[in-house]
Amino acid sequence: MNRFALAHARTIADAAARATTTVADAMTAARSNATRPASLIKAGGIDVLDLMKENLLAPDMLVSLRDVAGLDTITEAPDGGLRIGAMVTLGALAAHDMVRRRYPALAAALAGAASPQIRHVATLGGNLLQRPRCWYFRAAAFHCLRKGGGHCFAISGESQYHAIFDNRPCAIVHPSSAASVLVALDAAIELVDADDTIRRLPLASFFVAPGRDTERENDLRPREILTAILLPPPAAGLCTAYLRQGERSAFDWPLAEVAVALVRNEESLCVHAVIVLGAAAPVPYRAQAAEAALLGRRVDDNAARAAARAAMEGATPLPRNGYKLPLFEALVHRAIMAAVAETL
Ligand SMILES: Cc1cc2nc3c(=O)[nH]c(=O)nc-3n(C[C@H](O)[C@H](O)[C@H](O)COP(=O)(O)OP(=O)(O)OC[C@H]3O[C@@H](n4cnc5c(N)ncnc54)[C@H](O)[C@@H]3O)c2cc1C
Ligand code: SF4
Repeated sequence: MNRFALAHARTIADAAARATTTVADAMTAARSNATRPASLIKAGGIDVLDLMKENLLAPDMLVSLRDVAGLDTITEAPDGGLRIGAMVTLGALAAHDMVRRRYPALAAALAGAASPQIRHVATLGGNLLQRPRCWYFRAAAFHCLRKGGGHCFAISGESQYHAIFDNRPCAIVHPSSAASVLVALDAAIELVDADDTIRRLPLASFFVAPGRDTERENDLRPREILTAILLPPPAAGLCTAYLRQGERSAFDWPLAEVAVALVRNEESLCVHAVIVLGAAAPVPYRAQAAEAALLGRRVDDNAARAAARAAMEGATPLPRNGYKLPLFEALVHRAIMAAVAETL
């Protein structure tokens, strides 16, 4: 790990001005032997310091957001939704009363992520922006496609933790547990640059699939700070669930995760269905065939099973991750039944 300076920004504009580049751009620039100094944002530091310890990143400076006022608050928005500062920790968010009452699937996703120690430090913004956990990507010896090489080692190699959908030319799974459930809840994000220009966009459209660019997972621009995650107010009758399955119950990323958001009308027919699979594809994956299987139907066990089967339509498992199909199918079925069993 290289020596580096640590700066503490006091304002968003200060942070945006001091952080010269994004982690993805810094890794690309390092390969081209660019000598210009790189300074990067640090939130909780869990992922950015991991990348430095893995010798994948050697910034001259980290710019901490810890002292920037207002980034670690959760406030009710005028429309009844929630504004979550990007520096709110996963632990604080999971324990927040309003989140637990109004967005229980989000609280469940965060309460199960990583470990208590990590949740105490890791922030929601950093969680959404962490880089993938593919073991070839994390090992400096493998110069794979995502690091500017010409080959994906996972597709023909050790693919057990990789994507079953949209897994060409790169088969990463998106690493953020928060992302799946936030997409299911139709969250938006707010980004601010050094000139105080604000950019708001749906979280779902912020993520970048490998077909568009193999070297970045999102559309964060240099000198831009993710300031907040914006949740719309829960629709009347909204019921949600989040379930995950991993090899271990803590201190690990999941093998499969499912977030469900449903609304039923007075006749108990499903009028809104969003089903998002995490650890399934390079970006949070909308299981649209499963959603279509529920719309207009009474959500009972048969409908949930049919939707779960439909969720696996179009899967292209790799040689070592076919086990994920029955795993996801079971989780989708259970998550739908858990959502309709929930009363807001
Ligand atoms: C053992 C282990 C198990 C884990 N299990 C899970 C799991 O189950 N689910 C899960 O989702 N995650 C899991 N994680 C990942 C962990 O949750 C993330 O590494 C963490 O959330 C990153 O947050 P951070 O605040 O530490 O980000 P940092 O490491 O500080 O930053 C991450 C990236 O985001 C950038 N950044 C951060 N905040 C901003 C901002 N506001 N504006 C602009 N750029 C910013 C940084 O420059 C950096 O590139 C696990 C980690 C470990 C070590
Ligand atoms: S899945 Fe992506 S990150 Fe992993 S080896 Fe293949 S190209 Fe690299």
